[in-house]
Amino acid sequence: MESLREFNTSTRILMGPGPSDVNPRVLKAMSTPLVGHLDPEFLVVMDDIKAMTQATLQTQNELTFVVSAPGSAGMETCLVNLLEPGDEAVICIHGVFGTRLADIAERCGAKVIKVEADWGTPINPEDVKQALASCNPKLLAIVHAETSTGVLQPLEEISKMTKDAGALLVVDAVTSYCGTDLKVDEWGIDALYSGSQKCLSAPPGLSPVTFSQAAIDVLDNRKTKVQSWFLDLTMVKNYWSGAKRAYHHTAPVSAMFAMRESLRIVLEEGLENRFKRHQKNHELLRDGLEAMGFEFLVEKQYRLPMLNAVRIPDGVDEALVRKRLLEEYNIEIGGGLGPYAGKIWRIGLMGESSTPNHVNMLLAALKQVM
Ligand SMILES: *Cc1c(COP(=O)(O)O)cnc(C)c1O
Repeated sequence: MESLREFNTSTRILMGPGPSDVNPRVLKAMSTPLVGHLDPEFLVVMDDIKAMTQATLQTQNELTFVVSAPGSAGMETCLVNLLEPGDEAVICIHGVFGTRLADIAERCGAKVIKVEADWGTPINPEDVKQALASCNPKLLAIVHAETSTGVLQPLEEISKMTKDAGALLVVDAVTSYCGTDLKVDEWGIDALYSGSQKCLSAPPGLSPVTFSQAAIDVLDNRKTKVQSWFLDLTMVKNYWSGAKRAYHHTAPVSAMFAMRESLRIVLEEGLENRFKRHQKNHELLRDGLEAMGFEFLVEKQYRLPMLNAVRIPDGVDEALVRKRLLEEYNIEIGGGLGPYAGKIWRIGLMGESSTPNHVNMLLAALKQVM
């Protein structure tokens, strides 16, 4: 029977918008024999993950943990816990993930006030100011690293405006986390979610999140029950902290082992070194691509180091090039989304995939294929 064959994948080189390559140490950690999810030894693993997540997010927030589901579930966790029907929410949209934030906020029953910018450019703080003044906002949500376009969104000015308006600041750091500077406490971020599979280079399926005291106060003062049972923080937090460690759901034990090892690798390297490495390899790729005649979608000062969006030259069959890179060179890169489908490539240099070797392999392969 065909399905009884052992399953093997090709050895892919992951240079798309995530997942990124995973260190063999992390794969080895995943094969650690299972323990129960309430085993005292596993509770220590959870404590380690919490402490290392706090360190990598540069926060002291007590409510910092990992949601047992991908980045989109982290997004949903932030919004379903902080929004109640009838609340007003300012949502910034400059790509796919801002659009998803607005969709979730609407499903929470919130009145959404949208602040939009052209895809490929950052949100303009002046537009944010106007939107905040036009309503009584409970929160403002914004994407730090918009993976659909390659834009790095400056946050500090917008954070100050949000505070002045008495609203909570919710940040999508799925792609920026562990790849570029992200200071949760210093930048006044109240709720933040990320993902395991981008610059942290753990397998997909987990979402680190953190909440400030102001966010917890909002949660404690809800008039209605959180509409999602699984993502309801009032229950999840008793599993991750406190004396009781009550059963909530069965944690994905092996994935947590992987998470712990990935975080260890990040802290061994050091955050500053890691951010510098991402920037240097981005510059190496940029120089190589520009020498081949490629143009970047995003203006220089707003470019992400871990996700390079380049315009596809006229006359190039972009899907065929990606197919050949995958089939002949085992290299995965991403295509464009939404208005940029067929118009850009998205080349990821995330975590373990941010090395000079990855850059040189891709440039060499691309020269052959083109
Ligand atoms: C990948 C990504 C997400 C969604 O994460 P999933 O793990 O795919 O659910 C959300 N926001 C941004 C900016 C992303 O890049």
